[in-house]
Parts: sequence; structure tokens; C-alpha cells
Amino acid sequence: MTTVFIISAPSGSGKSTLTHRLVQEVPLLRFSISYTTRPPRGQECHGKDYFFISREEFEARVQKGEFLEHAEVFGHFYGTHTGELERAAAENVDLILDIDVQGARQLKEKSPAAVSIFILPPSRQALEERLRARSQDSEPVIARRLRDAKEEIRNYKQYDYVLVNREVEASVETLKSIVRATRSRRDRMEREIHPILETFDNA
Ligand code: 5GP
Repeated sequence: MTTVFIISAPSGSGKSTLTHRLVQEVPLLRFSISYTTRPPRGQECHGKDYFFISREEFEARVQKGEFLEHAEVFGHFYGTHTGELERAAAENVDLILDIDVQGARQLKEKSPAAVSIFILPPSRQALEERLRARSQDSEPVIARRLRDAKEEIRNYKQYDYVLVNREVEASVETLKSIVRATRSRRDRMEREIHPILETFDNA
């Protein structure tokens, strides 16, 4: 049984570092690769970071109902293809979706069993310092990201878990605990429990 873990966070809150560590360190957990109309940045690869497609192709795929959820973020379209979940289910692995608050809302409506986590920076000042430290963005972009963060953070109530990212190691541990606890839920354990019960029945 595949569990979908949805992770959202404002840009600069450390989400990529944490989710990469999680995927590396927890077995049977995989990143969902989204489709986007945004052009690739830097070293990004088609099929690894995203599937980069044209707006026309994206719209055609929306019409065919190929996306579990999709949204427009910062002027570009992003979507999670149904095939990602089908493949994960066939291979019996869990899936991590790094998606925005609109996508998270759509997915939770469709699949209430999905587990959603919002990553919050410890303060606006901490977020600003992180955005500056990665020196990837110009001043106007930093100002916009801070404004966007304020909007995104307002949506924290729609998530099951909120993680305040104060320190990387502690945050990775918290994420791992959420995955572990979810994997011990009774509804996920049925397949494992039955053979155990049978050993008692046959005694
Ligand atoms: P970036 O362009 O910086 O990689 O991502 C911009 C935003 O789009 C991030 O907040 C990211 O979580 C979100 N995003 C990436 N893929 C998807 C997706 O498939 N669906 C939705 N709804 N948002 C996505």
C-alpha cells in the first residue's frame, strides 16, 4: 500500500535539503517527478528534476485527465502525473510530492489518506538570511519570495503536520519519525498482520 507524503514550504525554508536527505536515508521512499512548463534552471535534467514540457502539451494532458493535481505557480504550470502514483503502487514504494499549497489542497480532497507536512522557517528574518546566503536570487526576487512566503504560510492549517526547520539534523529526524509512524498505522499493517494472526489460529 503506497502512502503519498505531501511536502510544501516557502522557497528558502530548506525543503530540498530535507526531502533529499529523507529519500536517501529512508528505504522504499521515492520522489515524484512533476511535469512543468517552466524552463530548466542550471543543471536541471529532463526526467530527473522535472519533465519539462510546453504549455500546449501541458494543457492537452490536463484535458485528458492525466494529472492527480495541477496548479499555476509563479506564472508556470506544474502537475503530478497519475502514472507516478501507479508506478509507486506497482513497486510498493511510498511517494514524496514536493508541491505547492494549491496542489496539496487538491490532493488531500481526492486522497484524504495522503499525509501532508508543511515546513516552516523559524522566522521571517531566518528565511531572509537563508535566501541571501544561497545568493541565487537578486534583491527584487528575494523581496518577492518573502511576500509569497507570507501568503503560503497562511495555509498551514490545511496540513496534517507542521515542521519548524530550526536545525537540519533534528528536522530530518522529525520527518523520518512521521514516515515511520505512518508506516505503523493499522490500515497499512493489515497485509503483514494477517499471516501473524494465522500462526495463532493454526496453533
Ligand atoms: P520550482 O520552480 O522552484 O522548482 O518550484 C516552484 C513551486 O512549484 C514549489 O513551491 C514547488 O513545490 C511547486 N511544485 C513543483 N511541482 C509541483 C507540482 O507537480 N504540483 C504543484 N501543485 N506544485 C508543484
